[in-house]
Amino acid sequence: MRASESTNLYFQQAADHLKMPEWLRKLLLTPKREVTVQVAFERDNGMIETVQGFRVQHDNSRGPMKGGLRYHPAVDLDEVRALAALMTWKTAVVELPYGGAKGGIGIDPKTLSKKELERMTRVFVNEIHEIVGPDTDIPAPDMGTNFEVMSWFRNQWEKYHGFNPAVITGKPVEEYGARGREEATGRGVGIMAVKLLKRLNVRPDQCRTAIQGFGNVGSHAAKFLVESAFPVIAVSDLSGTYFNAKGLNISEMLSYSIKNGNQLTGYTGAERLPAEALLELDVDLLIPAALGDVIHKKNAKSIKAKTIIEAANGPVDPEADEILKARNITILPDILANAGGVTVSYFEWVQNRQHYRWSLDRVRQELDRTMSDAFENVWQQASNQRVSLRTAAFMLAISRVQRATELAGSSL
Ligand code: GLU
Repeated sequence: MRASESTNLYFQQAADHLKMPEWLRKLLLTPKREVTVQVAFERDNGMIETVQGFRVQHDNSRGPMKGGLRYHPAVDLDEVRALAALMTWKTAVVELPYGGAKGGIGIDPKTLSKKELERMTRVFVNEIHEIVGPDTDIPAPDMGTNFEVMSWFRNQWEKYHGFNPAVITGKPVEEYGARGREEATGRGVGIMAVKLLKRLNVRPDQCRTAIQGFGNVGSHAAKFLVESAFPVIAVSDLSGTYFNAKGLNISEMLSYSIKNGNQLTGYTGAERLPAEALLELDVDLLIPAALGDVIHKKNAKSIKAKTIIEAANGPVDPEADEILKARNITILPDILANAGGVTVSYFEWVQNRQHYRWSLDRVRQELDRTMSDAFENVWQQASNQRVSLRTAAFMLAISRVQRATELAGSSL
C-alpha cells in the first residue's frame, strides 16, 4: 500500500463515523498544490548532482500551511503527499492555527559533505521560495534535516524577500529559534506516555519500555521517560538493539551517541541484540520513533507490548492496525503523539512575529498544556464514540478542518 493510501484509509474510517458526504471527502483529501522541482547542485569534486525536491501543500483552511522538510532516500512525491496530509490532521488535533504541508528531497544526507548539503538546500530554496512564506507555508525540520539546514533555508529565502525569520521554524536558538524546540517532539511523546498510562491505570515504574530509534525524537523521549520513572529497557538504532532488563542508563547513552556521530555503534554498557529484535521484545510500552510502516501484517502478531505510542509518522500500517486492534493493543496515533514538534514550532513562529523571546520554562509549560488538552479531547471522543484513539483523533481533526472549510463559505 502506498503511503498516501494508508493515511487516506485512516481518514476514511473517521469520515465514515462522521457520515461525511463523498464530495467533502474528496475536497479534504485532494492536496491544494504539489510541486516537484529539479535540484541541481555542485558536488565538492566539481560534478553536478541532480535530484528532485518536493513540496506538497495539502490544506490551508485553518491557517498557513506548516510542515517539515525531509532529506531521506525514500522521499518521493507520494510519501510527501501522505506526510503533508498528516500535518493537516496533526495541527488540527492540537488546535494550532495552521494547515498542513511537507517537503523533501530523495537523498541520503549522510552521503553529502556539509558544504554540499548547504548548496543543495540553497538551490532547493531558489526553486520553491515563491510558494513558502510566514503567512502561506512555513517549513521546519524533519528526518535528515536540522537547525543548520533551517538556517541556510532562512538565509537564502531572505535574499529574495527580506528579513523575516518566521518563514521557517526549528532555527538555531541564537538565530531566532525557540528554546526547547529541539527536544519538543520527544518531550511531547513523553508527556503523552504519562497521560495515557495514567488513563490505563498503569504505574510508570511498572511500564517496561522499548524505543525504536535514538535520533532527535527517540532520545529526547527516552530522557523524559526516565526522568518520569519509566524503566526504558531497550533502545535501538541502525547499529542494533541495546537492552538491559533493569533499565538502561539513558544519560550515558546520550552522551555516548553525541560523541559518536549520533550513533550508538560500539556502546558496551548494555546487552546487544539485532536491530530488528526491538519491536518484538517482551515489554509493556513500545515507541516506534524511526521510519514509517515498521509494524505491518507480518510482524503485528508478534508484538508483545500492550501499548504503542507512535512517535514516528505512520509507523503502523492499516493492516497491522486492524490486527493490533483485534488483540486489544492500545495505540496512541502519530497525529497526536508526535505533535510536540509542530506545537513548539508554532511557539517559535509566534515569538518571531512578536519579536519577543519566551523562557524554556514557558515553552515547556505551554507544550504540556496544549498536548494535555488535546489528549483529553481525544480520550473523551474515543470513549463517547466507542472508537479507537486513532479514529477519535482523526474525527476531531477532520471535523475541525470541515468546519473551517464551511466557514470559508463561497470563498472556496
Ligand atoms: N516535522 C515535524 C512533524 O512531522 C515538525 C513539523 C513542524 O514543526 O512544522 O511534525
